[in-house]
Amino acid sequence: MQKVKLPISVDSVRAANNRLEILASLDKSLLSRLIESTISIQSDIDTYFAFDVDQQKLKIFNGKASVAVELTCQRCNEPMIYQCEAEFTYCPVLNKEQENNLPDVYEPIYYDENGEVNLHQIVEDELLLTLPQIAKHAIEDCKYGEYESTFGEIEEEQERPNPFDALAQLKLK
Ligand SMILES: [Zn+2]
Repeated sequence: MQKVKLPISVDSVRAANNRLEILASLDKSLLSRLIESTISIQSDIDTYFAFDVDQQKLKIFNGKASVAVELTCQRCNEPMIYQCEAEFTYCPVLNKEQENNLPDVYEPIYYDENGEVNLHQIVEDELLLTLPQIAKHAIEDCKYGEYESTFGEIEEEQERPNPFDALAQLKLK
């Protein structure tokens, strides 16, 4: 079976009324910000969207996106595979007033003049949010993991003389 491609945008009200479900893939080459933030993206992105009307008659949607990416380990500088798993719930809104009246459980998202929300942008934003602030291998997989668990990072920094200090001293003389 051929995989469906994720549409760029959908009419969120109509989709909610129809209880639309989308299981689709998103071409990785379209996510320029995720490309910039990683060494590589391992595959196209698996996505799932479910549009619904909740008990308060609010049009909402839930979604998931997942993909493996390659990042640089900040401990050993070698590449590492990181699995991005995003889950989200949004309520499309038209203006600030609607946004302010939303229950806390929903993330507001503005729809455009045609009533559409941009699914590609949501997937990319959500995947970027899953990236770790500082990427590191698991200790057992890291080239320097054993080193770190033997000597604490702080201790290591204190004991190692800073070559720039010596240089600064020379310059002062
Ligand atoms: Zn590492």
